[in-house]
Amino acid sequence: MPLESPSRVSHKFCHAGPVSSTRDGSFREPQPYGLPQMPTTRFTTQFLLSALSAEQFPAPSVSEIAFLGRSNVGKSSLLNALVGEKAAKVSQTPGRTRAINFFALLDQRQHPRLLFADLPGYGYAKISKSISAGWPAFIEPYLAMRSMLKLCICLVDSNVPPQQSDRQLIDWLRHAGRDFAVVATKIDRLSGNERTRNVLALKKGLELEDVLPVSAKTGYGVKELWARLEAAGSE
Ligand code: GDP
Repeated sequence: MPLESPSRVSHKFCHAGPVSSTRDGSFREPQPYGLPQMPTTRFTTQFLLSALSAEQFPAPSVSEIAFLGRSNVGKSSLLNALVGEKAAKVSQTPGRTRAINFFALLDQRQHPRLLFADLPGYGYAKISKSISAGWPAFIEPYLAMRSMLKLCICLVDSNVPPQQSDRQLIDWLRHAGRDFAVVATKIDRLSGNERTRNVLALKKGLELEDVLPVSAKTGYGVKELWARLEAAGSE
């Protein structure tokens, strides 16, 4: 039985388009601040359920995208920027912060097009032995075995140096053969020089070819992130 029966907390949101990820799946350079994010597609976000065990996961249906990051990295804020306030609020509701919160993105005909899985934030403490040492036991099986999981979005804070726990997660995803993309959050807090320096440090420290700088506050990079999500969703 799911933790609770699926309830609709849906609301309209728009996201920017059109899809413009590069051929190799890397991100395009975000547009400068202040450009209007022209909505071309409308989805409705529907909260499905909070899962506290593998039995509670929704039956695999459409492509799924997982969002991962340390607590306080800005995951709720970014989800808010992507799909709207209610989804982020659901994920921060006490009791649901240790669960995987599933959201369906419905098209205008109310058909699910994509599922978002908001995973619990992992702690500041080092993740030892397994990535899920500080996590509920069902997280690792989710990441390892979920058949419709097409992409993991790993959030790292652009204001802090590369963290061991992030490195471990990313290494684990590599080892598991999971497709992932790393976004550097709260980029608005940095000046131009700091931004370049910190993003480079993250790339180096986490051994990444590509990191997408984003800001939930200004919307910077959100359009490019959506392009990547859509590309993964249509694989
Ligand atoms: P979560 O624990 O990962 O869900 O993180 P939250 O979304 O709750 O954000 C943690 C803190 O970072 C809050 O104080 C947010 O206001 C702040 N924050 C999140 N995203 C941004 C951002 O893009 N820019 C700035 N300046 N602050 C942010």
